[in-house]
Amino acid sequence: MRVPFRTLSAIVAAVTMLALATPSSAQKPFDDPVLERMRKDIFFLASEECEGRGIDTKGINIAADYVAKMFKAAGLKPAMKDGSYFQPFTVTMSAKLGKPISFALTGPGDAKKQPQLGGDYTPMGFSPTSKAKGDLVFVGYGISAPNLKYDDYAGLDVEGKIVVMLRRAPRYGEKGDKKFDTTAPEGEDSIHAAFATKIEAAAAKKAAGIIIVNDIGSAGRLDPIGQYANHATGTTPAPFPVLFVKRAVIDEILTAGKWKSLTELEAAINENLKPQSFELKGWKADAEVTVERTDLKVKNVIGVLEGAGPLKDETVVIGAHYDHVGFGMWGSAGGKDARGKIHYGADDNASGTTGLMELARHYGAMKNRQGRRIVFIAFSAEEKGLFGSIHYCKEPLFPLEKTVAMINMDMIGRAKPVRGDWLGLFGMKDRLVVYGTGTGEGFEKLVDTAGKKHNLKLSTLKAGTGPSDHDSFYRKRIPVLFLYTGTHNEYHKPTDIPEKINVPGMKKIADFVQTLTDDLITRDSAPKFAVVRDPWTDPTDPRPRGPMGPRLGIRPDYTYEGGGVLLEGVTPGGVAEKAGLKDGDIIVEIAGKPTPTVVAYMSAMATQKPGTTIDIVVERKGNKMTLKAKLE
Ligand SMILES: [Zn+2]
Repeated sequence: MRVPFRTLSAIVAAVTMLALATPSSAQKPFDDPVLERMRKDIFFLASEECEGRGIDTKGINIAADYVAKMFKAAGLKPAMKDGSYFQPFTVTMSAKLGKPISFALTGPGDAKKQPQLGGDYTPMGFSPTSKAKGDLVFVGYGISAPNLKYDDYAGLDVEGKIVVMLRRAPRYGEKGDKKFDTTAPEGEDSIHAAFATKIEAAAAKKAAGIIIVNDIGSAGRLDPIGQYANHATGTTPAPFPVLFVKRAVIDEILTAGKWKSLTELEAAINENLKPQSFELKGWKADAEVTVERTDLKVKNVIGVLEGAGPLKDETVVIGAHYDHVGFGMWGSAGGKDARGKIHYGADDNASGTTGLMELARHYGAMKNRQGRRIVFIAFSAEEKGLFGSIHYCKEPLFPLEKTVAMINMDMIGRAKPVRGDWLGLFGMKDRLVVYGTGTGEGFEKLVDTAGKKHNLKLSTLKAGTGPSDHDSFYRKRIPVLFLYTGTHNEYHKPTDIPEKINVPGMKKIADFVQTLTDDLITRDSAPKFAVVRDPWTDPTDPRPRGPMGPRLGIRPDYTYEGGGVLLEGVTPGGVAEKAGLKDGDIIVEIAGKPTPTVVAYMSAMATQKPGTTIDIVVERKGNKMTLKAKLE
């Protein structure tokens, strides 16, 4: 599982007492052959040899070979056309701007502009080394969303042209029915607001390049243009230059052509959600970007079992990521002492990978199985940002439109008994957290029945989003279920070792997945996808407040670099809302302490006590104001 931001910050603030351990004394062999092979799987994946399966280690390839070998032995066919189990892709580990970099605008007559690199514009991290030259077209927010009946590109031909667009989506920060995208979870942006979605849309329309300007909300007073580094690693680069440009540069062009200003265009779109796109006749841009990247080649491991009968063209995906954080040079929760030590990642996520291989053996042994196809995916680069599942969803090997459900296992090795009922009268049961029960029709009942069958104490959550690979499928509108036995003190530390794994518990969860899968591969009609507005939370986190102190209930914009903490969202009913804070406010001081950055804000909050009333100084539309907040 990826470190959710809150956990990461808790870790930064926490003083960690670390007892290092190495997996020396193996667990005793089991008499049961299934338990014994699962024990062997997890001890292998979490061995010294696999080096913590960091994407920058040799060990991860040893692990990938092991999974592929097991898939083959189980009777799974390679999913790639070339007969391989490996779906390769690239993750960028580091990237910086090189030379040359240039950007020029020319207009009617002799009009010419030469914006300054760094001051007026910057290439965004999505940009590869590339050039673009072409006519300028304003495309509103650059959104093409058939499901919302909104298309900034309607009636335009942008092939070979450079599109100019606003950041985010219309009506940013609005709630309820006024939202632009009523299908987005409450408190989350529309998927169409994401830079990646906008780039995908422009590329699909064969544009030659993108110029992005801040929307009014992100511009604030200073109109910060972000930094190249913000999106430079991990992401798949765009096929062309993507430039972040100051509003003033574009507004000058709009004024010269007697067109509406950016502010007016934005207001017009937001008013009634009607696009305001047009060609900036006579204006051309010429851009060149040079990037020096360090890329890593990684791979998902994918095996397939075809079904038979009328449902055989449809797919159910079962997945688990097999990568971890390697030697903890990044992604470790163990602090300085843990750096350079193998982070074995037994629970995270050798456990899910072991479950995946066991399910492959079970279904692989069935002859003439009727029903849907099952695709087994061991994802890579999950810990760096869900990149394996994002890649699969971008280049699926079986059509996503006919992928009826995805089940994800991430950290299923720490099942521990809890009271089976409130009073504990009926004994103890292993606990399992199941997410995504709201994402598919009938999932609540399916999960509930399976829980009873396998005598598990379930915590169910509706959310389809979250810090693991099912998130990528949910965002493609596929019903998902995500299984997790909970967090623990060894999370992302060298002490997440196989000796601490509950192997029979892990088997029980694999059996539970089998019950879900049996239903999903044979039910007559695919479960209908449903959007869930509940955000992801972790019911097993024993310290929801952590060392961060009381919480205000705000969501900062982490890309804002204008000084202060820009609020991207305010939780309804939270402390901040009660104190009168609003989206777009910039917090500059907490209880007398200046908060120039999110980190400064967090350390200021960490020393506050619930029950006290503090002053919060914010900037709202250029005015400073002091608000009183009663902490809870
Ligand atoms: Zn993890």
